[in-house]
Amino acid sequence: MAIREIRKFPDPILLRKCRVVRRIDDDIRKLATDMVETLIDADGVGLAANQVGILKRVIAIHLPEEDPYWLVNPQIIRTEGNREVEEGCLSLPGYVGLVNRSVSVTARALDQNGSKWRITAEEILAQALEHEVDHLNGIMFMDHLLEHERLREVGEEPEQGETHLHDVNYNIQAHHHEGDDDNPELLVAKAKLSEVTPQHSMSELAYDLQEPKEQDPRGETTAK
Ligand SMILES: [Zn+2]
Repeated sequence: MAIREIRKFPDPILLRKCRVVRRIDDDIRKLATDMVETLIDADGVGLAANQVGILKRVIAIHLPEEDPYWLVNPQIIRTEGNREVEEGCLSLPGYVGLVNRSVSVTARALDQNGSKWRITAEEILAQALEHEVDHLNGIMFMDHLLEHERLREVGEEPEQGETHLHDVNYNIQAHHHEGDDDNPELLVAKAKLSEVTPQHSMSELAYDLQEPKEQDPRGETTAK
């Protein structure tokens, strides 16, 4: 097993849709066990394969006080209810925001033995399954923000009447091609988080990212 680099927003791979896994082979098992190790190392609850740069429908889940596991081709087949929860993401470290999530989620997937897995989950598992399946579809939690003002830095209490959020400067490593892990290009990006509204898709956000002209990372993004 190995710890893999977690891609950070606004890495374009986070906005891309992952492909269905046709066969759980050794490559998938290696990817998935690496993801579990990476998730534990990062002290997170869930991780999707595009967060480690691979466009395959694999997620890892690690609930507090439970053994971690991984799933292939997870699908949400039913949701019930609505609740507001505070959420963060390993690909946007240091920030949390209030989002709408389902109270109950029924999901199906293949487990690590290739057997059919099905669960009706609530609380943190329901939230994690929705969050990770979103990732596989190129959607980040900021897409679900109730109000952009509510995205705030961790440790900073929300202020009454706060109406402006500063844009965030990021130093990111850009990987322009899948598997191009050896020569990441270091870019300074400005994520205009203050422009996020509940109507926004991440794909519509303006980044000051110097992407190669012929390859528009937003072109392949799936809207909600
Ligand atoms: Zn995430």
